[in-house]
Amino acid sequence: MGSRQPLAFLDEFCYNTNIMSCLFCRMVSGEIKTEIVFQSDTILCFRDINPQAPVHILLIPKKHIAGLNDISKEDIPVLGEIQTVAQLLAKQEAIDATGYRLVTNCGADAGQAVAHLHYHLLGGRKFGWPPG
Ligand code: 5GP
Ligand code: ZN
Repeated sequence: MGSRQPLAFLDEFCYNTNIMSCLFCRMVSGEIKTEIVFQSDTILCFRDINPQAPVHILLIPKKHIAGLNDISKEDIPVLGEIQTVAQLLAKQEAIDATGYRLVTNCGADAGQAVAHLHYHLLGGRKFGWPPG
């Protein structure tokens, strides 16, 4: 008991409410349909609705993580899986030889629009550097 329990409840309530309203969590649950290109128990990969290149796939952990600022040591396996599957999808989409980018936007200055950690796999055209 003590004074911490109500706050823990509130924390959990806010976390669950956040997940219920999270666009990508709703894709994970199947509530919102999307063009899935790969999935495992822990990650989901689907085509971006507004592609910025001939190949534009989003790779996300199925677990709700708001962004790169919110990862912890326990997420290392799923982050490793995302990198490995990005390599696999690059081969599958035939952009492995020509080149590609794997990008995550974190926070306002980077233009993160969806608060569920996601990596953009982009390829099939030349990209500029530095990014805009
Ligand atoms: P961010 O700007 O947060 O890094 O990227 C979010 C990405 O999610 C954008 O590229 C945007 O096009 C994509 N996106 C937003 N809503 C949807 C949706 O309903 N379905 C799919 N497949 N992608 C979405
Ligand atoms: Zn989410």
